[in-house]
Amino acid sequence: MILKLIRKILFDYRFFLSKDKVYVLMFHKVNDDSDVFYKGMPTKTFYNLIEYIILHFQIVHFEEVEYLLGKQEKPLLVITFDDGMDDIRTNVYDFMMERKVKFTINIDTKILIDSKPQYFIQVYDILNHSTKIESYYDSKYMKERISVNYVQPYETESAFTYLLSPMRNSEKEDFIDRMRLNLGLQQNCFTKVLSANWIEKQKENTLISFGSHSHSHPIFSELNSEQIKTELSISRNLLEEILHKKIEVFAYPNGEAEEYTDGLIQNQGFKIILKTGDRLNHHGKFPSNIFYRINMYQQDLEMAILQSIGLLPKLRDIKTKIWN
Ligand SMILES: [Zn+2]
Repeated sequence: MILKLIRKILFDYRFFLSKDKVYVLMFHKVNDDSDVFYKGMPTKTFYNLIEYIILHFQIVHFEEVEYLLGKQEKPLLVITFDDGMDDIRTNVYDFMMERKVKFTINIDTKILIDSKPQYFIQVYDILNHSTKIESYYDSKYMKERISVNYVQPYETESAFTYLLSPMRNSEKEDFIDRMRLNLGLQQNCFTKVLSANWIEKQKENTLISFGSHSHSHPIFSELNSEQIKTELSISRNLLEEILHKKIEVFAYPNGEAEEYTDGLIQNQGFKIILKTGDRLNHHGKFPSNIFYRINMYQQDLEMAILQSIGLLPKLRDIKTKIWN
């Protein structure tokens, strides 16, 4: 309510928007499910946010940024979706097509083979669908119990991410299988993901662009350069086979980037590299082929708007500086 009033007074925050900056948003789930872990943005919030963005920004694809920057009337904004959730097909697609909104989908291609989301999401799915537990322990893979916090789910999400990150894929699969069986869930408890068939149908759709989000969604700092090259080439080849066009965008899994891996990615033929960091891209200050993204998961429209224009991350920074 107060935020709404502030927004009215400040004319939709329009004085805070800058035409020198490129705004890049990163979405994952958009749905009205009652998930606790890895919660999606509610559909109503998403639709209203996109209406706000249409009003104040020029929504473009990455490859248009260089040409348009400096010549445009409104600030440039790019919309991205990571992890290939089926929500894109069921809750996002129709709205975006109707409003003619461009967006990029970054696919971790193993999901197209398994018809299951990446490993971290499978763990969150198990937690979301099982009856509440205080903690989880598996003596084969864990030194200590992970407490399951339903009030601050982020802590539990990070603990499982940290646990799974150094494991080989076969170990991750075994760990998840054991966890699913331990908590009494069926194979079909996992979130639905996009299919190769659906992606192929978008081949001629100029509103949708596709990027690689690796193959099996590992944390790149846990891999050696050979493993990174394999992740990149499997993913790019699969997408290029489906779409019959060059894949030039790469989004780091979990946004985690090491300086030296940027070069490996470029050597594999990717022209645009996406990282996270909840910050805007200032023209001239960053190399134009690397874009930082703002993580969009807010439940409330006002918060989502503040986040998308980079104000919420800035306020958070100021708060941290004051308290520390
Ligand atoms: Zn991801």
